[in-house]
Amino acid sequence: MAPPTNSSTTNDMITEEPQSPHQIPRLTRRLTGFLPQEIKAIDATIPLKSRALWNKHQVKKFENADQFEGRFIDHVETTLARSLYNCDDLAAYEATSMAIRDNLTIDWNKTQQKFTTRDPKRIYYLSLEFLMGRALDNALINMQIDDTTTDVNGSKATSTNARDMVSKSLNDLGFKLEDVIEQESDAGLGNGGLGRLAACFIDSMATENIPAWGYGLRYEYGIFSQKIIDGYQVETPDYWLNFGNAWEIERNEVQFPVTFYGYVDRSEKNTSTLAPSQWIGGERVLACAYDFPVSGYKTSNVNNLRMWKAKPTTEFDFAKFNSGDYQNSVEQQQRAESITACLYPNDNFEQGKELRLKQQYFWCSASLHDIIRRYKKTKRPWREFPDQVAIQLNDTHPTLAVVELQRILVDLEKLDWHEAWDIVTATFAYTNHTVMQEALEKWPVGLFGHLLPRHLEIIYDINWFFLQDVAKKFPKDVDLLSRISIIEEGGQERQIRMAYLAVVGSHKVNGVAELHSELIKTTIFSDFVKFYGPSKFTNVTNGITPRRWLKGANPELDKLISETLKDPECNYLLDMPKLTKLNELADDKEFQKKWYKVKMDNKIRLADLIKKLNGGVDIIDREHIDDTLFDIQVKRIHEYKRQQLNVFSCIYRYLAMKTMIANGASLAEVEEKFPRKVSIFGGKSAPGYYMAKLIIKLINSVGDVINNDVEIGSLLKVVFIPEYNVSKAEIIIPASDLSEHISTAGTEASGTSNMKFVMNGGLIIGTVDGANVEITREIGEDNIFLFGNLSENVEELRYNHQYQDTPIPEDLEKVLAHIEAGNFSPENPNEFQPIVDTIKSHGDYYLCSDDFESYIATQELVDQVFHKQREEWTKKSILSVANCGFFSSDRCIQEYSETIWNVEPVKK
Ligand SMILES: *Cc1c(COP(=O)(O)O)cnc(C)c1O
Repeated sequence: MAPPTNSSTTNDMITEEPQSPHQIPRLTRRLTGFLPQEIKAIDATIPLKSRALWNKHQVKKFENADQFEGRFIDHVETTLARSLYNCDDLAAYEATSMAIRDNLTIDWNKTQQKFTTRDPKRIYYLSLEFLMGRALDNALINMQIDDTTTDVNGSKATSTNARDMVSKSLNDLGFKLEDVIEQESDAGLGNGGLGRLAACFIDSMATENIPAWGYGLRYEYGIFSQKIIDGYQVETPDYWLNFGNAWEIERNEVQFPVTFYGYVDRSEKNTSTLAPSQWIGGERVLACAYDFPVSGYKTSNVNNLRMWKAKPTTEFDFAKFNSGDYQNSVEQQQRAESITACLYPNDNFEQGKELRLKQQYFWCSASLHDIIRRYKKTKRPWREFPDQVAIQLNDTHPTLAVVELQRILVDLEKLDWHEAWDIVTATFAYTNHTVMQEALEKWPVGLFGHLLPRHLEIIYDINWFFLQDVAKKFPKDVDLLSRISIIEEGGQERQIRMAYLAVVGSHKVNGVAELHSELIKTTIFSDFVKFYGPSKFTNVTNGITPRRWLKGANPELDKLISETLKDPECNYLLDMPKLTKLNELADDKEFQKKWYKVKMDNKIRLADLIKKLNGGVDIIDREHIDDTLFDIQVKRIHEYKRQQLNVFSCIYRYLAMKTMIANGASLAEVEEKFPRKVSIFGGKSAPGYYMAKLIIKLINSVGDVINNDVEIGSLLKVVFIPEYNVSKAEIIIPASDLSEHISTAGTEASGTSNMKFVMNGGLIIGTVDGANVEITREIGEDNIFLFGNLSENVEELRYNHQYQDTPIPEDLEKVLAHIEAGNFSPENPNEFQPIVDTIKSHGDYYLCSDDFESYIATQELVDQVFHKQREEWTKKSILSVANCGFFSSDRCIQEYSETIWNVEPVKK
């Protein structure tokens, strides 16, 4: 049998997913989950050199506490080379993680073997961001331990949750699981919702047994850490790999060279851009693979998240060397690593930097070559590629993959252009995440063509054929061609519209919530709907994984639910609509009491965190946690998300309370009108986003004034929690009574934290935007506090601000006047003027003035229900959880599988 062709790696058999059946050694005896005929096929040919290996093969998963403890100690002594006398929490974390990773790796090998043998269609999820958070607790939640050791009664096999077992073991060894978990730094390889979505999706793809890999970049620096100094955001680098990373497997044998710059050889016969062309590259770097095992809940399938790191090639510039410029030559090589040095910290905003384009191509090229190498092992013809491979583009960031596949097929594989293009478009699907202009990716052709000359040619050709088809279909519409063109003309320089390229290069385009999916059809992609028809455009409403966001973040609620559903093994987490059973209990006073207790405990947990962050000084009144409304807005700071509207309402409330007091009202009377509340904010601003940073400062300054006002006491507090990340979210979200999702209608594509809050029994105050619409439909309109203008009115309202004198509500005027008077910035009275100006002088683009009154009125309603009808509130909370099942990311993955990927689960 011939060896596999076209493998640019060595040692494929051991560290990569295995060979096709006829090349697999006799490993099957120790593998479970295979069909008998598969085992026979696998056994049929055994390379001689592998025989000895497999005969000695001993590696087993730990299956009980004893074995876990053995592994733990082995790792402390050998892998970490630490003395047992000197094993601190950090070492315990690393040893625990590596013991868990050992089990995952064994299952990973089996899973990849199985996928190779069965050769199902594979899904590749390309995302520049994976906001993973911590891995250990999640892995423990997902893992079941099948204990098959014999006890006194003879043989038995029991299945226990790894978290319970490991927790007990660590106790026996003198550690506390909670403290050990705390040692892990967040993998913050994302900005916000988009990156967290990718993390939830790979969790659900594993859980749903979909043969799927994620592809991303292994940034040395994730999203910056946020310090708040004198109320200002200060960014510090997040060197998250400082203590190593117990979860990654460095695959030095999986490397691909990636080329940049250079030119296309157009001499002699290379004249047509449609024919195979030779790109003579300039700079070359190596993409080296790092793998993260991705476990699913209660499945032995383990998927993979492959992240690329840039390294210098071992090639050497002899010209430089000979000229004696050794130092310089080494330095230049070193610069290769800068490609994957750092995550771009912008959320919903594109900057158009060359290094960013370099990151994108580096990642797309390495991922595609890896995908193709794997495909080639099956020896299938190219035309079957789209039957075996689906690639999902998480936003336009990976759109270069479309062009790169076309280049590989035409230039390297010598396929005919159109044959190649049919394969490309049948393979890719694109998820759009925004309709906001400033977030849509565009690249000037000059910069682009300099870095990727051949790709620019290919894009021009893709566009040329596309525009021909458009012209054929709409011969009379001349404007259409310039509107729909992938190349935007008319500005200073021609630009490549990446979203258009993604649409043209994909067979399906989806939005991330119903409203958003409708909006893309009527706004940015309306011409494409006209050309392709509406069926190319679809919706998959986002979701979140309930393993992390319910069981992991809110163990008490998980316990109450599993007891109530009589589901001790927590199978409900695989079938969230099962929660509807809770509907019957919404009015049950006993149940409400238990429910309320869970929320109270979570509020105390958050109050503890806030105290710790405040240097051990309480901000929240401990005596009154129970009747304090925890009102939370945590998300990236962005004008469209309108944290400024929230802080205006805090100022409004404060001023109104002060007026009452000045007019002689008693504190009891004030409290009657404005019941106890703490407004909690958190989130990072992009380092270069001036207005967002000023909003952070305003929140902190308002907090300083209100929190120190002795007249107000503990009736109102404003808190900014620094360094909002996934781990903080896991503490903050379960503690909310109310959360704020108040974006200008039509701007928030979906939102996912709205789902996290609802899944934890928090009520929402929100605009009719993103997934708030579906949340309302699922949980019922009585259980959500909606307000504000609708997206269909936004254009007109903006127009009015531009061309008419639109009055600002009196209450908002007072708030703005108070800010302008310098009451929150006595040392710099004009400090917050730019925020006031956006509303009063610059057309109030985000419509704060238009939504202010209905926002305040809705808050009054919130206050009344929370403080006067607490049982009613608790009932709404229960109903929220009972009906949130739709928002499990498992449901998303099922929808993608059926409607976009055409893929089926491979049973565990
Ligand atoms: C879920 C999540 C987000 C997204 O929040 P939105 O309110 O949907 O924008 C951002 N950051 C973190 C850390 C998250 O967990």
